[in-house]
Amino acid sequence: MARILVTGGAGFIGSNLCSKLVKDKDNYVICMDNLYTGRMENIRHLMGLPNFKFILHNVQEPFKTDVDQIYNAACPASPPAYAKTPIETVKTCVMGSINMLDLATESGARIMQFSTSEIYGNPAVHPQTEDYWGHVNPIGLRSCYDEGKRCAETLCFDYHRQAGTQIKVIRIFNTYGPAMDPNDGRVVSNFIMQALRGEDITIFGDGSQTRSFQYIDDLLDGIDRMMNESRPDFSGPVNLGNPHEFSMLELAEKILSKIGGKSKIVFMPLPLDDPTRRRPDITLAKQELNNWEPSIQLDEGLERTIEYFRTLL
Ligand code: UDP
Repeated sequence: MARILVTGGAGFIGSNLCSKLVKDKDNYVICMDNLYTGRMENIRHLMGLPNFKFILHNVQEPFKTDVDQIYNAACPASPPAYAKTPIETVKTCVMGSINMLDLATESGARIMQFSTSEIYGNPAVHPQTEDYWGHVNPIGLRSCYDEGKRCAETLCFDYHRQAGTQIKVIRIFNTYGPAMDPNDGRVVSNFIMQALRGEDITIFGDGSQTRSFQYIDDLLDGIDRMMNESRPDFSGPVNLGNPHEFSMLELAEKILSKIGGKSKIVFMPLPLDDPTRRRPDITLAKQELNNWEPSIQLDEGLERTIEYFRTLL
């Protein structure tokens, strides 16, 4: 039986990953979360399963257990959430990664670091390739997350070189789907909840900034291929994202046209350091992950996500 630790296992991506991993009865899934942004609702259906265990623990504190694989997904990921307690955000990224890399090294486990497109900052190269080093403000409101995640990547590669730790680093671009927190302030959840409630749709800035949205199932497929099927000496980093790029205005219009109702679009100030554009180059993922590419496009993914949010209401 493979013992698999998922940190941030009650979060949006972590809980979807746990739900997928427990389906294989040869996996024993240990879900760790301190419930800062993770939510018990996301894992309630897993509690009581013989191959699932929840542990309330902050990844900033050392943790010892026997494991074969670690998915290090713990960190608030929504800009309002991570900027509210920036010191904890940095600690989660840096101390959390040290603790998990120590555990991986001691147990001979393979560890996957959930990095992010945020490490590219406000990118001067478009679309973003893995060899682009980024354009990041080190002292701004988003820096706790951007620099924290960059340092976590550094730690992975230093443990790999110095201690021989088996690492896999993925850079996740904007991802959405069921189990997102309706109140965490991210654009997809905000727009859908606002449209369902008939409230104004809040576009920050003029709505011309772009993002590329990946449906959760495509990400999970990429994660599986990277962890379990990629060459042992391929550590990444590798971009996992959907290369179709949309402006926030286009996203708002798409969501409004699907939900209908009386919501109007309103424009609000753009947060500081908000990246103007974001799109992954996924050539490397295709090449190394057996032709991986996203198969669920925004229309279909949004419909499934809207259904999820409707059931919450
Ligand atoms: N955004 C927006 N309205 C909202 C929430 C976010 O226009 O109610 C914008 C935000 O300024 C950013 C984009 O949507 O340009 C994506 O924001 P999100 O917080 O989802 O992710 P990130 O900025 O980390 O990519």
